[in-house]
Amino acid sequence: MYRTHTCGELRIENVGQKVTLAGWVQKARKLGGMTFVDLRDRYGITQLVVEGSAAPELQEVASSLGREFVIQVSGEVLERESKNAKMPTGDIEIRLETINILNKSVTPPFTIEENSDGGEDLRAKYRYLDLRRGPLQRALKIRHDIAHEIRNYLNDQNFMEIETPYLIKSTPEGARDFVVPSRMNPGTFYALPQSPQTFKQLLMVAGYDRYFQIVRCFRDEDLRADRQPEFTQIDCEMSFVEQEDVLNTFEGMMRTLFKKICNVDIPNPIPRMSWYDAMDFYGSDKPDIRFGMKIHEITGLVKGYGFSVFDSCDYIGAICVDGAASYTRKEIDALTEWVKRPQVGAKGLVYIKVNEDGSIKSSIDKFYSPEQLQAVADAMEAKKGDMILVMCGAKRKTQTMLGVLRLEMGNRLGYRDPFNFAPLWIVDFPLFEWDDETNRFYAMHHPFTAPKPEHLDWYYSNEKEDLERVCANAYDFVLNGTELGGGSIRIHEAAMQERMFEILGISKEDADYKFGFIINAFKFGAPPHGGLAFGFDRVCALFGGQETIRDYIAFPKNNQGRDVMIDSPSYIDQTQMDELFLQSTAPAPEE
Ligand code: ASP
Repeated sequence: MYRTHTCGELRIENVGQKVTLAGWVQKARKLGGMTFVDLRDRYGITQLVVEGSAAPELQEVASSLGREFVIQVSGEVLERESKNAKMPTGDIEIRLETINILNKSVTPPFTIEENSDGGEDLRAKYRYLDLRRGPLQRALKIRHDIAHEIRNYLNDQNFMEIETPYLIKSTPEGARDFVVPSRMNPGTFYALPQSPQTFKQLLMVAGYDRYFQIVRCFRDEDLRADRQPEFTQIDCEMSFVEQEDVLNTFEGMMRTLFKKICNVDIPNPIPRMSWYDAMDFYGSDKPDIRFGMKIHEITGLVKGYGFSVFDSCDYIGAICVDGAASYTRKEIDALTEWVKRPQVGAKGLVYIKVNEDGSIKSSIDKFYSPEQLQAVADAMEAKKGDMILVMCGAKRKTQTMLGVLRLEMGNRLGYRDPFNFAPLWIVDFPLFEWDDETNRFYAMHHPFTAPKPEHLDWYYSNEKEDLERVCANAYDFVLNGTELGGGSIRIHEAAMQERMFEILGISKEDADYKFGFIINAFKFGAPPHGGLAFGFDRVCALFGGQETIRDYIAFPKNNQGRDVMIDSPSYIDQTQMDELFLQSTAPAPEE
């Protein structure tokens, strides 16, 4: 037996017992005639001591121990003289009788402690060492616990976990596909799934009326902090359901997770907001409702008074920032520069301050009477000491910029505590998005989302305005300004699916080539169905109080989509290229 206990287990009650532990040397230090060793495994750290009176051989081995040596030790549990209340094992230490070095270690490139001294790149290269650290171990433990609770909950609700293939044909989730050449079918390629969307729908046709899968998905997108080229979804689908059934089922799942993992009771029911309200009042389809500071349209109050910037705009909107009247000229200039950065894209920023004495000061004083500005302040329910920030332009674009500004002001005011959880459902999405550049409609979710039954006339109309009005029974689960998941009630009739491809400008031949299998399946008695998917990595990160998902994935990729530990992607040799009938036009690798 390698060990009788783990390094996180022994307590004062164990004093007097003979134990054997195994683990990694976190650090070894000499103090007087004694050697102290911190022994670590994933359960904790236990202090070992070799006394000055111990056998000389034992003392010699103890002084040869380096960081990250793997050792097996045995000895007696003693009560410590100077206890450490911060460590669960801090009341005891082990007086060693034997040390068995199981494996030595070269000096690690960074310290394996709570806060490492290693930079991000170095830690990524030695991910297996980084994974020995407490923060990452806790992150992976949360991930495991959440997966476990999800399986329990869904199993109790009669869901079956069914695997779907990775080597498939493109599924249109709106990203680029990763593709895999087929050796046995020269010149052809598999696509890796952006999601198992079509397969889960086929499972519904097959009668597996409650499906789920914690599944890897692949999207070849430019990476941001919360994106990975391969990521994990909690993918679900149900038959014979309406939107209400899906929302209730997964509200239940999220409530259970919050309770079991974070011991937090989330609102019951979870609030719902239409996509239109989310855009109008928060400038985002994933509003952070931990705080107010909603966007107000003030077009009617300020347009047409001779201020040409406003007079030439379709839309003028504003937010009211608590206590910000104290902003100095310099601070306002800096904020104006901030909104002009390409990431926000505003042309400028107008302010209206309600001073502590009730007077009004604004950057547009010249164009408006104090009464007119007061009317804006009243409409926005501004208090003394608040500052109103105004932007104008095309409606949705301006709302989006105000939404970004709102989040920034929320950050500055400390309104975005990561452990204050404010979930909500966004519902009633438009089915389509028009794109001016390509002059065509795109599916806002994906092309398997059904129009609302009451909007079917518009769905079959050929007028652009009608199609723009079609809404879907589609829904997103949003938490603290992050979209954690989304889904929809699906199309389950071949003709309606064909119409969808027609609206999206996909020719009949193309639709048949790419999606003939699902259109065909719908001809064999497809039940009404709907579902959703949650971004599992994001769920884990948010439950852990973090914004980035990387720490919650054992072996993530960097911002260039590279795994620097295994050095991938990498070149393959010519024989492999030939077998796959591939020729590369990329510059030759440097020797
Ligand atoms: N397949 C969708 C996605 O990956 C989710 C869904 O509609 O169920 O976003």
